[in-house]
Amino acid sequence: MSRKVLVLGEVREGSLRNVSFEAISTAKTIAEGGEVVAVLVGQSVNALASEMIQFGADRAVVVEDEKLASYTSDGFSQALLAVVDQEKPDGLVLGHTALGKDLSPKLAARLQSGLISDVTAIEVAGGNIVFTRPIYSGKAFEKKVMVDPFIFATIRPNNIAPLEKDAARSGDVASLTVEIKDLRSIVKDVVRKASEGVDLSEAKIIVAGGRGVKSEDGFNPLKELATVLGAAVGASRGACDANYCDYSLQIGQTGKVVTPDLYIACGISGAIQHLAGMSNSKVIVAINKDPEANIFKVADYGIVGDLFEVLPLLTEEFKAV
Ligand code: FAD
Repeated sequence: MSRKVLVLGEVREGSLRNVSFEAISTAKTIAEGGEVVAVLVGQSVNALASEMIQFGADRAVVVEDEKLASYTSDGFSQALLAVVDQEKPDGLVLGHTALGKDLSPKLAARLQSGLISDVTAIEVAGGNIVFTRPIYSGKAFEKKVMVDPFIFATIRPNNIAPLEKDAARSGDVASLTVEIKDLRSIVKDVVRKASEGVDLSEAKIIVAGGRGVKSEDGFNPLKELATVLGAAVGASRGACDANYCDYSLQIGQTGKVVTPDLYIACGISGAIQHLAGMSNSKVIVAINKDPEANIFKVADYGIVGDLFEVLPLLTEEFKAV
């Protein structure tokens, strides 16, 4: 059964986030040969439509308004609902990002539809679109099929591969004017924290530190390895609570959920709440001086040792490659 599926292109600081391209490939599977329509919402986002098409969307609809310059659930839901009203799609895919987590329940309520959130895999089986998603903080996975004819899903970043970019691909880009009204909140100013290096939620490699780093300076050997590997630095809540680093680095049940290709856990015990945020990483390396540490149960490779001795050796080895 072929479907028309909308995909929201998520824009951050003028660029599309990778999860937008992963959402296009998800939408392609749901569309089963039908049409994938990219939706861009914001101010001055029109130029990004062609990139959505190069990653597999068939065409794009752009809603631009100065009131949409910063994300608000009120503004973005009005814009998306107007596109849904015009396009009458059979499905909608968003990233399971901070934006997607905030916006999708509101849209589902307004559309009177179901929602399958935090999808990590999708397949067509027995004539159904089958979604896989983690439950119980990642301890198990469930497979779900949407009973509702309207298929609405959010996908976890870094899990579903995007299609290859085809620079020669083209498609129609149309503008839709939407009167954005009655915003209950307005973003006056955005103050960004000075962030170093690679974005944690989209990083392919993460070097994360726990209470075992012992101090703010204890993160330095992790940062040095991260620089050599082109990796992001993350942390356990233990390290954040101890004031060794900022809470924006926290990974876990109450922090960020990450799925990098490689996760290097340094001085992290492996509490269940931490595992909830990283245990789906493709390869996990744990460095801990306690051979009984729980982190070794999920690790593919374990190094029993002092992180302050092991990390400089790893950094030197990778520098030489
Ligand atoms: P510890 O458990 O203290 O472990 C430190 C480890 O470092 C030990 O295993 C030790 O052997 C090792 N070590 C020490 N020195 C060295 C050295 N020199 N070299 C190598 N290894 C060394 N935690 C999260 O991480 N993320 C969350 O989102 C989160 N959410 C939570 C939500 C709730 C509701 C609750 C109750 C807890 C939550 N926690 C979360 C906290 C969690 O339970 C743990 O307390 C926390 O993860 C422990 O952090 P840690 O592993 O860094 O510290």
